[in-house]
Amino acid sequence: MPTLRLCLAWCALLLAPLAAALELRPQAIAPDTWMLEADTGYFTPQNGGFLVNMAFIATDEGVVVIGSGPSRQFGERYRKLIEDTTGKRVLEVIITHKHPDHFLGNQAFRDVPIRADAKTTAMIKAEGEGLAENLYRLVGDGMRGTEALAPTAPLNLGVRNIGGHRLEFIAVPGHTQSDIAVFDHTTGVLFAIDQVFNQRTPTLPNADLAQWRQSLAQLAAVPFKLLVPGHGPVSRDATPIAATRDYLDWLDATLRDAAERGLAPTEAMLLPIPERFAHWGEARAEWRRSIGFMYGRYERAALPWLTPPR
Ligand SMILES: [Zn+2]
Repeated sequence: MPTLRLCLAWCALLLAPLAAALELRPQAIAPDTWMLEADTGYFTPQNGGFLVNMAFIATDEGVVVIGSGPSRQFGERYRKLIEDTTGKRVLEVIITHKHPDHFLGNQAFRDVPIRADAKTTAMIKAEGEGLAENLYRLVGDGMRGTEALAPTAPLNLGVRNIGGHRLEFIAVPGHTQSDIAVFDHTTGVLFAIDQVFNQRTPTLPNADLAQWRQSLAQLAAVPFKLLVPGHGPVSRDATPIAATRDYLDWLDATLRDAAERGLAPTEAMLLPIPERFAHWGEARAEWRRSIGFMYGRYERAALPWLTPPR
């Protein structure tokens, strides 16, 4: 065992500089618009927790930044990159939902408005520290100095004209209790963020599948030219919206069937994943996690006599 401990200590030392050296490469995706495409794996010291696509729009009034990233270190590097790329100052940050890899870079933007809707802000205030602790455990050194800074300004739904861009903020809950998509009418880019996963298995710790399906239908009706998903590459059509819907439908039906057959969670974890999803990033691992998050609900629905009396 001492050998293993020594190895782990050395591995941690070797991996820490990798996180620092993580390459952040902005891709120009539309006029005034860039994204950083993230790793489609899981949180590790190597990727520094950078798992979610980041995007920014350089308007005439300044840069609107969508998501601040997973850590203070990341946020600081990201802000410099934004300013170097656009030659403009940051105007404001939009936090689309409460997941930690989307807002733990907030400290790097504390001098500008960090906007989120009231529900997301309240949840970050209540749960932010616990969410940050989880990432510390998974990412390690790359999280140093990171604190859960809650959003500082309101985010209203509807259209706002910002420096020549007509931005619409749309409520699309379901991935969490409150999620916001951003549609830039000026460029036709739809930032669907974590409502849509492309070639990466959706994460469901706070999912409401009925709401999520409704929101996907709403997003599919937006006349976008380019879709930026939360994870995976951009798309020029609605294929990733349909694929995310297909996955949610399969998961829902499979969990219901497993519960009705009386499978234990450990048995359900071993069920086959269809070919069309099996090659997505983290397919088996997210399936296992989703069973942990959701299977109890299906068991209670299938076997109500097991539910303790209230
Ligand atoms: Zn998320």
